[in-house]
Amino acid sequence: MVVTIPNELNQRLIKICKDGFPYEVCGYLLGEVDRAADGLITTYSITEIFPVKNINEVNPKRMFNINPLDFVKAEEAAKKKSISLLGVYHSHPDEDSYASSTDNAYCQIDMCALIYSIKQNKFNEVKAFMPKIDKNNKDSLFFEETKFKIL
Ligand SMILES: [Zn+2]
Repeated sequence: MVVTIPNELNQRLIKICKDGFPYEVCGYLLGEVDRAADGLITTYSITEIFPVKNINEVNPKRMFNINPLDFVKAEEAAKKKSISLLGVYHSHPDEDSYASSTDNAYCQIDMCALIYSIKQNKFNEVKAFMPKIDKNNKDSLFFEETKFKIL
């Protein structure tokens, strides 16, 4: 499974994440889904982003929350353009790009994650993650790193 993004869009996301530093920024990823004959997802092609506000008030440098109304708005935006809601991006200020325990707790089926690591206000790295079912606890999902291609 591979997640792709045009270079221009990736650069825009890096700028948004740097502008938001030292706070976590977040938003939705929209685009096209490709599936194999057996129905399994092969590619998520990100074509649009939908930035939203991080409404976390406890520790917005380390956590993010999204207003559920923004989720509805992002879904409507995708529907209007006949594309799909593919996932969520967020930044990790002064942290590497990895799925934290909080990230895993909010993991939703088929929703990918792009995590932008910004260190000292400079772009460090970005990785893509897809939800996977936990073998030991079938009710829970966790993020596993997946292939990520900048076009
Ligand atoms: Zn995170």
